[in-house]
Amino acid sequence: MHVLKFGGTSVGSPERIKGLIDIIDVRQKQIVVLSAVSGTTNKLVAIAQALYEYNHVKAIELIDSLHLFYADFVQKLYTDSIYLVQAEVLINHHFNAIRAFTQDLFTINEERVILAQGELISTALFQLYLQEKGVVSVLLPALDFMRTDAEGEPDIAYTTTHLQPLIDSHPEVSLFITQGYICRNAFGEVDNLKRGGSDYSASLIGAALRASEIQIWTDIDGMHNNDPRIVKNTRPLSQLSFDEAAELAYFGAKILHPQSILPARKYRIPVRLLNTMQPSAKGTLITEQSGTETIKAIAAKDGIVAINILSSRMLLAHGFLRKVFEVFERYATPIDMITTSEVAVSVTIDNTTHLEKIRAELAIFGEVKVDVDCSIICVVGNFAASAHGYASRVFEGLKHIPIRMISYGGSDNNISLLVKTQDKNEALKSLHGRLFD
Ligand code: ADP
Ligand code: ASP
Ligand code: MG
Repeated sequence: MHVLKFGGTSVGSPERIKGLIDIIDVRQKQIVVLSAVSGTTNKLVAIAQALYEYNHVKAIELIDSLHLFYADFVQKLYTDSIYLVQAEVLINHHFNAIRAFTQDLFTINEERVILAQGELISTALFQLYLQEKGVVSVLLPALDFMRTDAEGEPDIAYTTTHLQPLIDSHPEVSLFITQGYICRNAFGEVDNLKRGGSDYSASLIGAALRASEIQIWTDIDGMHNNDPRIVKNTRPLSQLSFDEAAELAYFGAKILHPQSILPARKYRIPVRLLNTMQPSAKGTLITEQSGTETIKAIAAKDGIVAINILSSRMLLAHGFLRKVFEVFERYATPIDMITTSEVAVSVTIDNTTHLEKIRAELAIFGEVKVDVDCSIICVVGNFAASAHGYASRVFEGLKHIPIRMISYGGSDNNISLLVKTQDKNEALKSLHGRLFD
């Protein structure tokens, strides 16, 4: 079984949807996971925002405009009027459901239902298109088998027990379609796997079915060695290990959702990053095997807050770090980077939901300084003790940029540096020049 995920731009126009048939080998047993048509989720977010603000005029304007976009989209997607009429009924049904939310109280639950519409629409339209083309396929509702637990963590075992029987009930079918991104939470409510979550869906489904390969089809020819939106002359990496890919995804390489490599890594399922616009390009293969380059890639993660606790009294006392970490644990706030000195400890977080409470509790231990608008620059490669000389090149590349924290040696494949976000672009460009050009 293969899992193929197509992202927003890969289903971004009627032409692209038509082109998927050339990429999907319809004889292969596979499950195709689709994102919403590009731009749709952003628009659904804007609709929800307007409804939170009680701005119903704006909400209805946004809903009408997106409805019109899809009315035009289906006109171009289907040639047979039987399918066009079915598509119009389907689109009207989804937009009437969205419009109904302008009548009632608007809460996070209504918002999540609105956000789910993008993937529900794209998969239904694709399924209908396959029908028009005479391709046998079955649409499987992700809400029937994707679930997160009480901690908000995806439940792979639940997916296995609920998805496998659905597939087995169609022994004659080789092509299954489903929605990325959406799931139910522990209360059975409609929820999602956070922005960009369709990659995560594909990996979770791959893990649940113990697939032989997961393919992430997007608009670029694989994982590049730096952020192509910021740096010129980046190039795709042909091979990455699970650990390297997981680090790059977690530290900001937008091509992959931050958690999306973890399920594949758990079951050692190869992941290929491929380009829908250039299907013959080799892309990136992610397995247990790393490539040959010593320094693989650079990525950056924004929205980081650094917290520094200065405590001459307590740091040398045993048990101090435990007490500090317990504060973050109580507020379920993960720490990304950590550095210590004799009198101070600095950590970074990206979830600031409980920042004020954390700050207040840490103040018991000493003076607390909070530095917002920071970015972590992460250099991924082979930094084992034997690979000497590389750290100095990293610092050389950043010699004109103030570095606020450094984390080196935590693992053999990562150097992380904290800079102000305003310096991030320059840091990425300069490091690229020093490490790759
Ligand atoms: P999709 O809609 O298919 O999920 P995304 O926009 O989420 O696509 O991810 C693909 C984009 O990620 C690329 O167009 C590229 O601009 C961006 N990107 C950021 N960092 C990297 C990187 N290191 N390698 C490749 N693409 C990257
Ligand atoms: N449609 C969702 C988003 O835009 C999920 C995804 O595309 O992966 O975030
Ligand atoms: Mg994405």
